Amino acid sequence: MHRLGVFGGTFDPVHNGHLAAAVNARRALALDRVLVVPARDPWQKQDRRLAPVEDRLAMLEAAFDGVDGVEVSRLELDRPGPTYTADSVEELHAARPEDEIFLIVGADAASDLETWDRPEVMRDFTTIVIVSRADIAEPGAPGPRWRVEHVRIPPLAISSTDLRRRAAAGDPLEGLMPPAAIRCLRERGLYADRG
Ligand code: ATP
Ligand code: MG
Repeated sequence: MHRLGVFGGTFDPVHNGHLAAAVNARRALALDRVLVVPARDPWQKQDRRLAPVEDRLAMLEAAFDGVDGVEVSRLELDRPGPTYTADSVEELHAARPEDEIFLIVGADAASDLETWDRPEVMRDFTTIVIVSRADIAEPGAPGPRWRVEHVRIPPLAISSTDLRRRAAAGDPLEGLMPPAAIRCLRERGLYADRG
């Protein structure tokens, strides 16, 4: 039996908060590995234009290259239509029913878990791992039958929203994203056209 972490997100772009969340969740819960799963077309972000998923994936691969026990996954890349975490959880569970799945979410995402599509899939097939996020109050369990763990990381007031703004303005990204991911972002000219 494997203890499998699943860390989904838009990663538009990946940043040091994501790195800290993934490795600290792995450590705190003794996870055998963590899958970092970029959403191709996140249903909660239908109103905004995202960087192409292959660019987001390339930055993620650069960011997590050489990080022990963490793998970037293509699980949500080929599924048509809006991306739902419930589909991914069901797929992972069906592929390896003996694994124990830990769904890693930041405190902001954790507070609206019950509004996600088919929340009972997350409740019944995963343990939710809530990672602290700077300036965000930590929610409790979404309901009585949920399994929840909490992981505290040093507060990193970093967000992809701020990084997109910085990239568009030509402001420095150093210290906020892994250097290899910054190189990838710059080589591909990402976010240059956003104001
Ligand atoms: P955006 O500003 O575009 O929403 P984001 O920085 O919130 O981007 P997401 O891709 O939305 O990044 O987040 C993926 C996951 O990582 C979510 O569960 C989110 O809560 C978590 N996360 C993001 N930033 C941090 C951070 N600084 N500390 C802890 N968790 C974080
Ligand atoms: Mg977010």
